[in-house]
Formats: sequence, structure tokens, C-alpha cells
Amino acid sequence: MPPGVLLVTGGSRGIGAATARAAAEAGWSVALTYRDDEAAAAAVVADVEAAGRAAVAVRADVAVEGDVLAAFAAAERLGPLTGLVANAGVVAPRARVDEYTAERVQRLLAVNVLGTVLCCREAVRRMSTRHGGAGGSVVLVSSAASRLGSPGEYVDYAATKGAVDTLGLGLAREVAGEGIRVNVVRPGIVDTGIHAAGGQPDRVARLAPTVPMGRAGRADEVAAAVVWLLGEGSGYCTGSVLDVAGGR
Ligand code: NAP
Repeated sequence: MPPGVLLVTGGSRGIGAATARAAAEAGWSVALTYRDDEAAAAAVVADVEAAGRAAVAVRADVAVEGDVLAAFAAAERLGPLTGLVANAGVVAPRARVDEYTAERVQRLLAVNVLGTVLCCREAVRRMSTRHGGAGGSVVLVSSAASRLGSPGEYVDYAATKGAVDTLGLGLAREVAGEGIRVNVVRPGIVDTGIHAAGGQPDRVARLAPTVPMGRAGRADEVAAAVVWLLGEGSGYCTGSVLDVAGGR
């Protein structure tokens, strides 16, 4: 299926912003969601438009069902939705399991798991041939944490990404006969603002030397993998999990 309309959650910064820009270059019109940073979202919209594609930014917390519905409605105003990148995700401050609060874990689950599931539900309702749709392509942004476990940092975050991996595997098989491909990308340590947001502004510099390739990844390197999985070049891939982690 050629590029059409794509929704990128968390498209204002980091990997999501890089994905929105790369997708526009590949021919996708892009709706993106953001939570707080309206100026960053507007900058991405301007870049997508400069690439000659339509764009819209919607403030939405993916953990809130009404926000997700509004984001999909805004995306559909650009045309029939054929792509979803479920990228919005959060970490929490470094802590051991024996230090967690229920509130902390609930927030991680709400954004990273519930939010991703809700977005998948809305995508399938629109794309599935079972519902009269034309098919589409879904990419879930997980993390290498799902197979490393993140001991001493955030095991709960890693567990939410394990859920994302499994969601991708199951959904891919559930809708493979309905015109929808579903694949998962697992970034390693990527230089974005998420580390500072989780209280570790030095995390990339500290851990980059431990990566087999000896450096952190860039958001555009993850975006390239995501856009490939979205597009026709990966047409026989579904249920795939692609590590973009420098060998980590
Ligand atoms: P980031 O730079 O912190 O950007 C996060 C994006 O998500 C922003 O656009 C933010 O919006 C948005 N967002 C945050 N909470 C949201 C919510 N509740 N609802 C909707 N949007 C929300 O993060 P990133 O590093 O690009 O991470 C993107 C994804 O990659 C996440 O799922 C993360 O777990 C995963 N990942 C990242 C790394 C890494 O090393 N960076 C590694 C593995 C996996 P605002 O701009 O408005 O805040």
C-alpha cells in the first residue's frame, strides 16, 4: 500500500518527531500527538508541510480514551488513515522494585500499555477490511528494555515494553488476514529528552560506551527503521520485532 495518512503518537519530540519528518519525506501526510510541548509539535508540523505533505498536531494524552478518539478524528480529517506509529511512552525515575509506589506503576501502565492498546483498537476499527477499511500498517515502539529488564533502573518500564512486544505479536496475527501489518521496533539507548525526563540527564553519556557499537543511537536512525516497516518495502513483514540498538 502506498503512503497515505499516518498518525504518530508522541510526535512532537525525539523518536516520534524524527519519524514524522522521515515519513513526510517518504510521502505520508502526518497527524501527530503531543502532551505538553505545543511549540515543538508546531515545529514538526512546519517541517512536514515544508516537505510538501499535510500535517496536523493534536494535544492528547494517550492514557485518556477521549483524547485518543479526538486524535484519530483529527487524523482522519487529512484522509483515510492507513498508518499508525504508537510511539508515545514515558519512563519513571530510577528506582528498585521494592521502592515503587502504586501511582508510579499505574502511570507507566496507563501511558505505555493502555495508551498503545487504545491506539491499536482505533487503528484496527479504521483500517481493517473487516470494518470496510482499506488496510494499513502499524508500528509499535517498544524498547530493548523488554529483553534486558532494566534492573536497578526501571524494571516496571521494561515490563510495560514486554507488554508492547506481546501486543504486537498477537495483534499482527489477529489482523493479518484483514489487510493490516503490525510490527515492533525496539530502540536501544537513543539520544532524546526521555532520559532527562526520567531524572537521568547523563544516562546517554554514561551508557553509550557500554553499547557494542560504542555510541548511542540517533532518533533519525530509529525513524528510518519505523518508516521502512510502515511502507511497501517491508510488505511481507508482520509480527516482526526489529532491534535498533547498536548490538545492545
Ligand atoms: P521523548 O523524547 O521524551 O518524547 C516523548 C514524546 O511522547 C513527546 O512527543 C511527548 O510529548 C509524548 N508524550 C509523552 N507522554 C505522552 C502521553 N501520555 N500522551 C501522548 N504523548 C505523550 O521520548 P523518546 O525517547 O522519543 O521515546 C519515544 C518512544 O521510544 C517511547 O515509547 C520510549 O519508551 C521509546 N524508547 C526510547 C528510547 C530512548 O533511549 N530514547 C529507548 C527505547 C525506547 P511532549 O513533547 O508534549 O512532552
